[in-house]
Amino acid sequence: MLNPCVQCGKERIDGKSWKEKNGSSVIEHTSTICPDSDCQKLVEKAIEDRKMKAEILLQKKLNAKASKEKEFAQS
Ligand SMILES: [Zn+2]
Repeated sequence: MLNPCVQCGKERIDGKSWKEKNGSSVIEHTSTICPDSDCQKLVEKAIEDRKMKAEILLQKKLNAKASKEKEFAQS
């Protein structure tokens, strides 16, 4: 199996494909989706959750950095 689904292990199928210009060449991208649409929804939700968590983490890091810099400026 080349590209198994992370949720159910089924072989993923081609979903959307789109073309992107990169300088003078055009690259074709194809996203793969799970053949099981319910499962695909779960996968998408997991990706969304992960993105959100990463964003929150990044925000926390930025906040921590900002407060550290404030401390430094005060001392
Ligand atoms: Zn699946």
